[in-house]
Amino acid sequence: MKLIDFDTRRKEMVWIQLRRRDITDERVLAAMEKVPRHLFMPVELWDRAYDDAPAPIGEAQTISQPYMVACMTQTLQLKRTDRVLEIGTGSGYQTAVLAEMVDHVYTVEIRPTLLERAKGILEELGYSHKITFRVGNGHTGYEKEAPYDAIIVTAAADCVPPALVTQLADGGRLVIPVGYPEHQILYRVTRKGEEIEQEQLLGCVFVPMVNEKDVSHFG
Ligand code: SAH
Repeated sequence: MKLIDFDTRRKEMVWIQLRRRDITDERVLAAMEKVPRHLFMPVELWDRAYDDAPAPIGEAQTISQPYMVACMTQTLQLKRTDRVLEIGTGSGYQTAVLAEMVDHVYTVEIRPTLLERAKGILEELGYSHKITFRVGNGHTGYEKEAPYDAIIVTAAADCVPPALVTQLADGGRLVIPVGYPEHQILYRVTRKGEEIEQEQLLGCVFVPMVNEKDVSHFG
């Protein structure tokens, strides 16, 4: 069996896919140089773990393209003390990148089997003391721990869920793909006191945000 030099591939990923594009936040770059993306993927795909692409993680879901993870994380403009809510844990890779950058991450996933698997890997890598895991429907956010300085949604919504805007702290940022299935656009929503500012960032492709009734079909 040929050995793959994951550290070198990860360095190349950061250099070619992130720095050479528009990722300039050194904390994002450092986090992504550190987190072993392959461990969040099925072993038969490890050879492609540092490619410029999303990949399947089971249950018809995907781990996002590294550039998209970097772009969304940079857009959140994180400080170490920020309280962060993630909707759509999926593989747990984005969760690990966030946990490298802030003291605590709250993550909500609607598919229990995916959450359990992500939890296991994040535990093994030593991140779990910084993460609160919750099975649930992210359309309603996670009110118990609100407000949040940053909210990241990694599944496409029909429109911006009002509960997420309500759970933003003053100055808080929400990054979310909107418009399933076609013409998805990544939005940043910022709360400034009573004002809500909305910016369109770029086109993107995400799996849909679903409701509980849809999940039972996947088992
Ligand atoms: N950031 C993840 C992306 C996973 S794909 C990664 O890179 O691995 C999107 C995830 O959102 C899936 O795991 C899916 O189950 C989850 N999801 C979809 N609708 C949801 C909802 N309403 N609430 C919470 N999670 C949801």
